[in-house]
Amino acid sequence: MKESSPLNLYKQLPQTNCKECGEQTCMAFAAGLIDRTKKVEDCTPLIKEKKYAKKLDTLKSIVSPELALVLIGTGEKQVKVGGEDVMYRHQMTFFNKSPFAYDVADNMDEAKLVERVKKISTWRKFYIGKWEQVEMIAVRSVSDDPAKFAACVKKVMETSDYPLILCSFNPKVLRAGLEVAAKNRPLIYAANKDNWQEVAKLADEFKVPVTLSVPFDLDGLKSMAATFVGMGLKDLILDPGTAPNGKKLQESLLNFIKLRRAAVEEAQRDIAYPVMALPINAWLTTQDPVRAAYWESVLTGAFVIRGGAIMIKHSIEAYSMMPDMHLRFNIYTDPRKPVQVKPGLYKVGTPGPESPVIVTTNFALTYYTVESDVASNSINAYILSVNTDGIGVQASVAGGQLNPTKIKEAMDETGFDWKGQKYPAIMLPGMAAKFSGELEDLFAGKAKIMVGPEDSGRIVGWMKDFWPPK
Ligand code: SF4
Repeated sequence: MKESSPLNLYKQLPQTNCKECGEQTCMAFAAGLIDRTKKVEDCTPLIKEKKYAKKLDTLKSIVSPELALVLIGTGEKQVKVGGEDVMYRHQMTFFNKSPFAYDVADNMDEAKLVERVKKISTWRKFYIGKWEQVEMIAVRSVSDDPAKFAACVKKVMETSDYPLILCSFNPKVLRAGLEVAAKNRPLIYAANKDNWQEVAKLADEFKVPVTLSVPFDLDGLKSMAATFVGMGLKDLILDPGTAPNGKKLQESLLNFIKLRRAAVEEAQRDIAYPVMALPINAWLTTQDPVRAAYWESVLTGAFVIRGGAIMIKHSIEAYSMMPDMHLRFNIYTDPRKPVQVKPGLYKVGTPGPESPVIVTTNFALTYYTVESDVASNSINAYILSVNTDGIGVQASVAGGQLNPTKIKEAMDETGFDWKGQKYPAIMLPGMAAKFSGELEDLFAGKAKIMVGPEDSGRIVGWMKDFWPPK
């Protein structure tokens, strides 16, 4: 969506302020369309009344993302691929984080296959208030045997409800997989210069998204995309080739950038599709599994920041997955909204009358750092997360979002029973030490104000020296 002014979207709305969309005004709805908290379909008069048909078409074309959005899978686990509007995150935000698909192969022993699928689909990591996880499973045909592939796909589907990528260049193998899995809308990988006619027929027959693989030939890729679109197939993913090392890797990275630029800056609609990266190719570079897993992680990071919209990977070792999960989390976090936790009083461990109340802000990174430092040292405490609009301690002290009145009000809102505390005291972050005098006055007769360390990593030492208060 090139449009960033709600006023221009407002012009295409009925302008009746009927509130059916859940907003008070059409202008608020227009603003919601820009930040994607609202969909065009939420404006029922626009959808239902024929007199708005032209406006509806115009609005849809304005709000459609620069990079096509492709949906894979169905139901809750469905993944959104692409749908981005900007080249760089800081220009607005990225919306749909690249799904990571981990591979299984149809030549695996059944017990090992089930074990790996379970590991992939239960992997979780709690990071800054959210669970990071794998999104997809890529089923690779190594046997090139349609019956074996179909049996493998069936077993994977019995074990996990994750969306699938069916991987083979053999149309017969792909057909066998689709006959089992098509109802779950898998992605097929891939059409290439040899098989594209048969694979296009499969995508059309089974109504599934398809990957176009034309390595290191952007003109060939563009031409194939145009051919598929001409056949009415619009759910396309592009595979421009992922070389795992050397000069070709440089070419791969440049191709990813060129494709994203063509889509969002040059509005080349015929190539504005999400791009797939294959960090799994790192395994072609070495026999050493640790080096391969490490290099796969490096490649993943490189392609995440260059617009890889979906990836196929192999290593499920934590040391390979965690850096990629963290990097992806941060790249796909909205820079316009600091990650926040709900303000309020939280219990860490089993706090009681002898526990301190530790004050921090509701910036998620700050909150979870404090919580982790407290919990990992087996300290039982209350943590008061003060609403600073998601700004950290140092900046909110400087900017006034954290101040003595706000701390007092936040504490009062929790209804905390100070009388039940053996040591009624508040630990103020060291960086907010200048509030201690004013807070002493505000909490007079209720709680003592103690200045804690500037770094929550030192809370454990602080507790040894200063708790319980003398
Ligand atoms: Fe305006 Fe449509 Fe919302 Fe009604 S439903 S307030 S017409 S945007």
